[in-house]
Amino acid sequence: MVINLGGAVDAHTHCYPDMSINEEMIRLSRILGIEQLWVSYHPYSMSGFKPPSEEVWRANEFVYELSRRFKEVKGFVHVNPLNQDAVKMTEFFIRERGFIGVKLYRAVRVSRRIVDPIIEVAVENNVPILVHTAHRLYPTSRPNESEPDDIKSLALRFPKAKIIMAHITGGGDWEYAVSRVRDLPNVYVDIGGSVVDYGSVEEAVRVLGDDRVLFATDTLISAAVSRIINADISEESRIKILRLNAMRILGE
Ligand SMILES: [Zn+2]
Repeated sequence: MVINLGGAVDAHTHCYPDMSINEEMIRLSRILGIEQLWVSYHPYSMSGFKPPSEEVWRANEFVYELSRRFKEVKGFVHVNPLNQDAVKMTEFFIRERGFIGVKLYRAVRVSRRIVDPIIEVAVENNVPILVHTAHRLYPTSRPNESEPDDIKSLALRFPKAKIIMAHITGGGDWEYAVSRVRDLPNVYVDIGGSVVDYGSVEEAVRVLGDDRVLFATDTLISAAVSRIINADISEESRIKILRLNAMRILGE
């Protein structure tokens, strides 16, 4: 079976310090017909969840270099909102480096007001904010990991922000996740992650409609590709999820 995703956009993926992995990922993406990869630095390749400023600058510059080398790569600036220069860094990578989005990980929940100046920069520059999010099904201690309700708080504070709730299939309760953002038109979800339960894409489309669901791999390409090509949805919806919704977010 030949798979061609028809110019898809991978709205959430990462690069690694080992360049051979990045080259392999891009080679595979080309074979699959993925035209754009929205890339932020792999968070687990950093020293912790609250990386110091110098480390984050270096990581973002690494993404920039990758974007210069591979036309598919579009940068998302990784930001630790706890760093003094977080706003400056966000502005620099969007305005001077051509990055097309902001990535927030697990330094702080997005319901906290400390993230607001960063979101303001994203809104001013009309770029999306991708937020690592999960509603875990097992007991866990991840105090700074955003839950769907933190996304809701952010979306209500910033109705003009384009917020992507990351990887509904990244290890949390996807049914709960999509239900919590149903009434927030500025919240999108991506279908990346490793969980291969049946029905996640169908449920996202049923609850949110097919305009707010984005194809993404979060580097787990085979899971994401099988999830989208096997989803029991219309071809029109599939094309929206694979490409058109992402292009609309970029204003193209
Ligand atoms: Zn990720």
